[in-house]
Amino acid sequence: MKTKTKYIFVTGGVLSSLGKGLASASIATLLESRGLKVTIQKLDPYINVDPGTMNPFQHGEIFVTDDGAETDLDLGHYERFTNAVMSKNNNFTTGKIYETVIKKERKGDYLGATVQVIPHITDQIKASVRLLSSKADVIIVEIGGTVGDIESLPFLEAIRQFKADEGEENVLYIHLTLVPYIPASDEVKTKPTQHSVKELRSIGIQPDILICRTVKPLFKNIKSKIALFCNVGIEDVITAKDVKCIYQVPINFHSEGLDHKIVEYLNIKADTPDISVWKNIAKKLTEAKQIVKIAIVGKYITLKESYKSLNEALYHAGIPNNCKIELIYIDSGELNEKNCKEKFKHADGILVPGGFGSRGIEGKIIAARYARENKLPYFGICLGMHIAVIEIARNKAGLTNANSEEFNPNAPHPVIYLMSEWYDAKKEKIEKRDENSKKGGTMRLGAYTCHIKKDSLTYKAYKTEEISERHRHRFEFNNKYAEKLQENGLIISGTSPDKQLVEIVEYIDNPWFVGCQFHPEFRSKPTKPHPLFTDFIKAALANKKNQ
Ligand code: GLN
Repeated sequence: MKTKTKYIFVTGGVLSSLGKGLASASIATLLESRGLKVTIQKLDPYINVDPGTMNPFQHGEIFVTDDGAETDLDLGHYERFTNAVMSKNNNFTTGKIYETVIKKERKGDYLGATVQVIPHITDQIKASVRLLSSKADVIIVEIGGTVGDIESLPFLEAIRQFKADEGEENVLYIHLTLVPYIPASDEVKTKPTQHSVKELRSIGIQPDILICRTVKPLFKNIKSKIALFCNVGIEDVITAKDVKCIYQVPINFHSEGLDHKIVEYLNIKADTPDISVWKNIAKKLTEAKQIVKIAIVGKYITLKESYKSLNEALYHAGIPNNCKIELIYIDSGELNEKNCKEKFKHADGILVPGGFGSRGIEGKIIAARYARENKLPYFGICLGMHIAVIEIARNKAGLTNANSEEFNPNAPHPVIYLMSEWYDAKKEKIEKRDENSKKGGTMRLGAYTCHIKKDSLTYKAYKTEEISERHRHRFEFNNKYAEKLQENGLIISGTSPDKQLVEIVEYIDNPWFVGCQFHPEFRSKPTKPHPLFTDFIKAALANKKNQ
């Protein structure tokens, strides 16, 4: 018989960006390595129904799950650190919770009642958490935002109720805070942590464990001060010192005794963890001697979080190739025919990532042309594939002003176009759309099967003829131009099983030139680097050696 599900709630205090996502993912991997089945959920207090419509400059990357949910980028950390597969039920926002409650109210489900934050919203939050209870022995729930924000209150109230609902030994509260270092007095300060815990306790949550972010080691006197003021044991104060490589975090948590404390509090019988896998990964990522430089040509380069999974996938690919990856971010808006040689002077490979809207498009086309003509490895992801097709159409196939309908709806040669009808991944329903379709959730989203042509760079990478990868886009390759483009060096190496959708293209006269309609970065893990990234880096490394 399955024992009762255990819940770990992770909150954050003092300020945002302390790495709650990484902390939650690291706890999850430690529990997994103790033989437990774990899943992780993110509760986001903002009003958007999902982050799909948010600007990447502000919110960072949108992470796409197999079932086509557009979610918070922390879910990417969860999948990279664990075996858990994320779904739409792993990310809820205030907007989504209210949407459900309001729909129920209109249906008459609460007939007679005044619908209120407590209990109706809080009950819906609790129901959303419990949706995962059949999936794991332990559910880790990360609450977005910072304790003290007005908008997180219903979430905190809901998780407060969990201890009474589920029982003392089935619920654990972990609070992540900052212990700042003041250089002038050469000391670390515990007051922000004290205040943050006070705030939590004022709403009825006594944290069981504190994870303290710090740049300095926390000595016993500091830990005991925090313990005293925050009403926890000294062993419940965990140091989370800044790390060079994020995969070091589980190792440090383990040596601080965090996973030991968790299983003790939750009264779980669990194996001793094996963390050698993380030790190997951290060692390989930090100690490799060779450096491969990849130019990323995009428009969201001022916020590195916009390309979170992409950056990680590139770093992972360094592992099997025994090299370190250095990323050179190039703003596509600033790239032109004149400066491209200089800008790409140090690049061993060029990558054009996904993106939306027309700004910076011509710069990206110049980047693809530069890679193609100089036989530099090129990797185009989603928009980057569109760019490669447009570039080859314009500069090789003589299709003047070829374009995507996204950037010019009246292009004379719409080599990339808006498909007005398509089946969803399960082939269950036809979706229809046009330029006026609403923006939220109307893209081709989630995992789709793709068939790969043998004797292609893609087949060499995957070593299989059938793959499944995640999509997030509106525009597609226009088959009307397939013949003309193939006569001019384009290779169609991946299609949907019915051959109607082009999913992967290559270029004949380049050691490694691949564009894919999907986002392979979402599937890469440090324990399982993605084959396309691995081969791209391998080609970049070979290119470097030949210089
Ligand atoms: N903007 C393009 C589309 O919607 C590409 C999207 C992407 O790169 N994810 O089709």
